[in-house]
Amino acid sequence: MHYSAYHHSKIPVAANKVFPGENSRDTKEIKSPCLITGSRKNLELFRLKLRIISWIIQSYINPRHWFGALNHLYELRATFLGNYKIKKMASVGNKYFTSLYAPAINAANFREFILSELNRYKKLKYPANKLNHVFLAITNKCPLKCEHCYEWNRLNRKEVLREENLKQSIKKLQNLGVSQIYLTGGEPLIKFDLVLELLNFAGSKTDLWLNTSGFQLTEEKAAKLKAAGLTGIFISLDHHEETEHNHFRNNKNAYSWSIEAAKNAVNQDLLVTLSICTTKEFVTKKNLTSYMELGKSLGVSFIQFIEPKKVGHYQNSEINLSAPQINLLESVFETYNFNDEYLEYPIICYHEYYQRRNTCLSTNNRGLYIDSNGGINLCPFCHTSSGNILEDDLELVLEKMRSNQCLQA
Ligand code: SF4
Repeated sequence: MHYSAYHHSKIPVAANKVFPGENSRDTKEIKSPCLITGSRKNLELFRLKLRIISWIIQSYINPRHWFGALNHLYELRATFLGNYKIKKMASVGNKYFTSLYAPAINAANFREFILSELNRYKKLKYPANKLNHVFLAITNKCPLKCEHCYEWNRLNRKEVLREENLKQSIKKLQNLGVSQIYLTGGEPLIKFDLVLELLNFAGSKTDLWLNTSGFQLTEEKAAKLKAAGLTGIFISLDHHEETEHNHFRNNKNAYSWSIEAAKNAVNQDLLVTLSICTTKEFVTKKNLTSYMELGKSLGVSFIQFIEPKKVGHYQNSEINLSAPQINLLESVFETYNFNDEYLEYPIICYHEYYQRRNTCLSTNNRGLYIDSNGGINLCPFCHTSSGNILEDDLELVLEKMRSNQCLQA
């Protein structure tokens, strides 16, 4: 598990940038092993637009629905970008990613991802994926004791889900259609062989990712994960300073595990994300600047901000960020993602930024969280206990959950 607790009032969006370099051209190319920008990025986006238009025309007979579908996709895009344009994309192998929660834009399964969205706009005549992303907790075991752990109440108990149960769960999800599955825990790397087994079992029709603290991820293990088909890896790192991160995670090795894991995963051409719980103690301009520098120096593609949330170990803690802190985070998000001065830095993914402008990306059957007991929940922070993956008809559970709203909003 690798996150934390929160708030969710509508707050004024940052009006003034706190970082320099407002001028923006869209042709600047940077040399980065993990990012593409400028005309190369523009060409890939142009090709993507043509593909999407052709998928829409193939999907609906009535031209009125072509425009409606395009509008639906533009609105979804605005959730992530507002009025900004995409300035950079992550590049791994020959695949290009604009988001952590969508397949590569030039991969075969991106079409399925788009069709699932079209199906939300207006039912398609043929089957489409019912789900975009699912977090699947494969173990409740963990060597850490993190301040913010959302699985805290289930950690280090007798395991409920065995290998065959997990395979059955993956099969059920794939039968309904799912673009991405994120293997999480507990600490999934505690069960390294199981992770390999599940990657092999899932095959290539779904992207599989790993959410980890980086626990003992050697380069050899990273190579095995890559060879087994892993797409990407989220590595928790909650501070750029070793002592602070170790303190937050209650383990003297936590920082070295994270850093080594990031280096090893980057070397093995995995799509690497550093994920940080942006606590009120952490959120200052100085800390955020240092953290972004660290991410850049490690060569990771994405950095994920997650605001602390009142769940699990943080259930009874005072964790809310102040309005100026949220403004600062939003300004950092906009500056590093959309300003030409920051093209060489990792892309920031910031869920609460999207939520404050639109809605939670798990609602409307886009996402699910299967906990280590098999419980079906809206997301890792919204423990809705809507059913059990082994016992219940998943399609019926999804139908029931369609109108579930984010409990953290
Ligand atoms: S204690 Fe373990 S499961 Fe919980 S957040 Fe930390 S690494 Fe994740």
